[in-house]
Amino acid sequence: MRTIREPAKNIPVLAEADILVIGGGPAGIAAAIAAAREGAETILVERYGCFGGTLTQTGVEAIAWYRHQGTVEAGGLLKEIEAAAQAMGASTQECQSDSQAIDPHLFRYVCDKMIEDAGVKPILHCMAVDAIIDQGKFAGVLTESKSGRQAIIAKRGIDCTGDADIAARSGVPFYKAPKEELMFVTQIFGCRRVDTKKFIKYVEEELKPTYRDWSGDCWNQKIDENAAGMFSPYIEKVFIEALREGSLQTQDKEVSFGGTWSTVTPEGEVTQLNMVSIRNIDCTDVFDLTRAEIIGRRNCIKALETLKKSIPGFENASLSNFGMTIGTRESRLIKGLYTITAGDVFNQGRFEDSIAIFPEFIDGREFLVLPLSGRYYQIPYRALVPQGVDNLLVAGRCISGEPAAHTSFRNMACCVATGQAAGIAAACSLGQGVSVKAAPIPLVQEALTAQGVRYQ
Ligand SMILES: Cc1cc2nc3c(=O)[nH]c(=O)nc-3n(C[C@H](O)[C@H](O)[C@H](O)COP(=O)(O)OP(=O)(O)OC[C@H]3O[C@@H](n4cnc5c(N)ncnc54)[C@H](O)[C@@H]3O)c2cc1C
Repeated sequence: MRTIREPAKNIPVLAEADILVIGGGPAGIAAAIAAAREGAETILVERYGCFGGTLTQTGVEAIAWYRHQGTVEAGGLLKEIEAAAQAMGASTQECQSDSQAIDPHLFRYVCDKMIEDAGVKPILHCMAVDAIIDQGKFAGVLTESKSGRQAIIAKRGIDCTGDADIAARSGVPFYKAPKEELMFVTQIFGCRRVDTKKFIKYVEEELKPTYRDWSGDCWNQKIDENAAGMFSPYIEKVFIEALREGSLQTQDKEVSFGGTWSTVTPEGEVTQLNMVSIRNIDCTDVFDLTRAEIIGRRNCIKALETLKKSIPGFENASLSNFGMTIGTRESRLIKGLYTITAGDVFNQGRFEDSIAIFPEFIDGREFLVLPLSGRYYQIPYRALVPQGVDNLLVAGRCISGEPAAHTSFRNMACCVATGQAAGIAAACSLGQGVSVKAAPIPLVQEALTAQGVRYQ
């Protein structure tokens, strides 16, 4: 690639803090709130105008749709976030589980309030573009915003960007699957003016969708026999028929049609239509991201036409919204002091430095396993600690794990759990005057318990 040399210049310092959390998705909001609760002066910096990450920006509502009777999980901030959303009228019963579907619009406000109540300093519309490393230790980030190029200085950093942007720029080694193996990205859309009574009647009496439908042409996921017959909101056949007969045509070979919806309201809205998937996209490549957005929107319009022609109730439907950005499931996975394996997820991994538990729930790479048995695995602190640079932690979907294990820990509830643990561990390391690599695990676990988190 052709390069040019950027002239050296002095960078104004925008802000300073004990702990800087970069990225305000499920992991980032949890990390920032947890750190502030431990008494650390904490900044949460986010590139877009709202917190919530994939939930608010892509429009993914189902924060814990794996939950059924007997599911064992970490609790902590996940429970608090769900309770706050419910109390503020930002959630409704999720249709396939014992959990809530969270309204991606109102949840922006819920996040603002939780962040402010915790005493975290928020900075929105500010992208972290590089890491400041001093003698092998994290010391802050360079940012770009409407205010120009600036710096945020901090004693500890927690990378919650989903893509491990800051870890990668700090020189932390990472694994990124070849493009053709990465999980597909999705443009989510919503509809209004649906005759929802008619749609629900069709779903209940004719479509009768179950998890078994996920093993079709589009998502192609093998389902545990014990879950296969359970209800799941899934539409695929109409798209396959429309493609065969030619009423649905696309120039985009990397697109598959089919998937789930989330909330159906009496006012005629059907939200989180997760039905247009695009393969072969590397979301750390700006040209791929551009392509994905344009292909995604183009094919959502086509998918909507098919829904209007083929699904009772959708005859007069119109587009209410696109997700404000394409949704990424997988990109960089950092190399940490421990790599979570598929075996750990499937065999109830146990670790002395456990900082959270997550149910045996797998969604992706050809498998869907629902946690109906009460089985769960522990997440070791070392998976949050990157190799190389010190005083930086990573939380959320880009922690250290094999791609097959990522299909489990990428779920929002698990991202909240690793975020909360990272926030506590960063604050604890600071309080004890040791680096994050030397954070005293018993004290971290004590603080986790005090914040209502189950880690064993
Ligand atoms: C289409 C789709 C459907 C999904 N469905 C579900 C589901 O039903 N249930 C479920 O639990 N999970 C689902 N997932 C997965 C889940 O949403 C994500 O894995 C999860 O949100 C990851 O959380 P995170 O906090 O690690 O990252 P993100 O949610 O991606 O948040 C990262 C945040 O960091 C910000 N950011 C990124 N880079 C920078 C930077 N350099 N500087 C500043 N800010 C930055 C982003 O704007 C964002 O706010 C789905 C994912 C997709 C794409």
